[in-house]
Amino acid sequence: MNAAPRRGHRGNKQSLPSKTCVRCQRPMSWRRRWAHCWEQVRYCSEACRRAGPVPRQP
Ligand SMILES: [Zn+2]
Repeated sequence: MNAAPRRGHRGNKQSLPSKTCVRCQRPMSWRRRWAHCWEQVRYCSEACRRAGPVPRQP
């Protein structure tokens, strides 16, 4: 008897969502602390949050 090859999902870890900081344009990876407010997260750090949104350039 041959063991049936297992198909399906490989051992990929859950791909974490990522965003780009609206202030410094750096990619930021999901953090557990943001789990409850990921939708509202815009800044990668407190410093960026305090700096506020980037003024639009013409
Ligand atoms: Zn930032």
